[in-house]
Amino acid sequence: MKNYDYLIVGSGLFGATFAYKAKQAGKKCLVIDKRPHLGGNVYCENIEGINVHKYGAHIFHTSNKEVWDFVNSLVPFNRYTNSPVANYHGELYNLPFNMNTFAQLWGVRTPDEAKSKINEQRAEAVALNGKEPSNLEEQALALVGRDIYEKLIKEYTEKQWGRDCRELPAFIIKRLPVRFVFDNNYFNDAFQGIPIGGYNILIHKLLEGVETRTDCDFFKEYRNHWREIANQLVYTGPIDEYFDYRLGRLDWRTVFFKTRVECTPNYQGNAVINYTSHDVPFTRVIEHKHFEMFGQAVYECPKTVISEEYSTEYKPGMEQFYPVNDDRQNALADRYRTLAAQESNVIFGGRLAEYKYYDMAPVIEKVLKIF
Ligand code: FAD
Ligand code: UDP
Repeated sequence: MKNYDYLIVGSGLFGATFAYKAKQAGKKCLVIDKRPHLGGNVYCENIEGINVHKYGAHIFHTSNKEVWDFVNSLVPFNRYTNSPVANYHGELYNLPFNMNTFAQLWGVRTPDEAKSKINEQRAEAVALNGKEPSNLEEQALALVGRDIYEKLIKEYTEKQWGRDCRELPAFIIKRLPVRFVFDNNYFNDAFQGIPIGGYNILIHKLLEGVETRTDCDFFKEYRNHWREIANQLVYTGPIDEYFDYRLGRLDWRTVFFKTRVECTPNYQGNAVINYTSHDVPFTRVIEHKHFEMFGQAVYECPKTVISEEYSTEYKPGMEQFYPVNDDRQNALADRYRTLAAQESNVIFGGRLAEYKYYDMAPVIEKVLKIF
């Protein structure tokens, strides 16, 4: 008789949601994580009474009502709406690209004026003669034209990915909305917000009553004998590591943060400011209190915590953040997926094990579908 139905490697949203649903189905789970805390990338650290998103700003958004109702049944979410601002050499522009941005850039007042300006700007892209954009630069020029590309996309993207925009796939930029209304909401989804009290509450609720171990690396402690203690393995770590990198290492972009406390209640007036020019070394500055404190509450908390976000090439030993979905890496990931499909009693899930850029809601949706 084995001790557990499931050994779950990783306590991020995939592992924690899996454990929750398995527990509801009467199964016994052990959740392990090599980090000193639970929650994976949504983990928050409390500094000066502010929930600091330790692994980067996380805004929950979805149009899937089942997922929204599921997370809200565990912890109510607030009404936070993501509306980042771009700073280009000191000029401020609203994001995503909408009537506010067009008015700030060109002084246009109506959607018709904005459309004719964008059409003028897109003239060089029209020279593609209906050919599908083959890289990010062509895609951006076709979508919004030269001015926006130069001021708000080119240098930011090159900092973020460490590559020339002509070497990057077009799809990266497709997710940025372009709107001819005065609407700074970054997401088109029906629902968005932050758990009231922070993400740790969500993770705590998901893992309530489940046995957990932190500071516990699967490869050091369970790799060779997990089948003796559990019927099934749920693996949410990097897929290439599971197979001892036998086909080669997958590439990632990584991000690191410089976080500090500022003795002012309101440092930048917004949760997210993107620095879109090359001369500023970081990509964005996050002021964490704005995710959960609104109106007067911002001033009742006398200090603030900010994080500068720097994007760099991944090297072994660093945290894996963004998969590099170019053709070569996708082909390698496919070969690992073929190996994964042959493993008996192992479920590979989540952003590291699937080598896929997942937002939070689709990760939860995927687990809900499994059950
Ligand atoms: P993770 O949260 O990474 O969890 C995997 C866990 O496995 C980790 O805790 C890790 O320590 C553990 N692990 C790995 N290997 C081992 C091992 N050998 N032994 C034991 N444990 C192991 N999504 C949104 O919806 N909105 C956002 O605003 C948003 N912002 C983001 C910003 C950044 C900078 C990044 C990188 C991602 C962002 N995401 C956002 C995506 C979101 O983080 C993911 O969708 C989510 O974290 C996926 O959960 P997961 O469980 O798959 O992975
Ligand atoms: N992007 C940009 N300028 C910006 C913000 C984003 O050009 O001010 C581009 C950039 O290529 C980035 C992509 O849009 O990789 C997606 O950005 P988003 O902020 O939505 O994704 P995140 O980095 O939060 O995952």
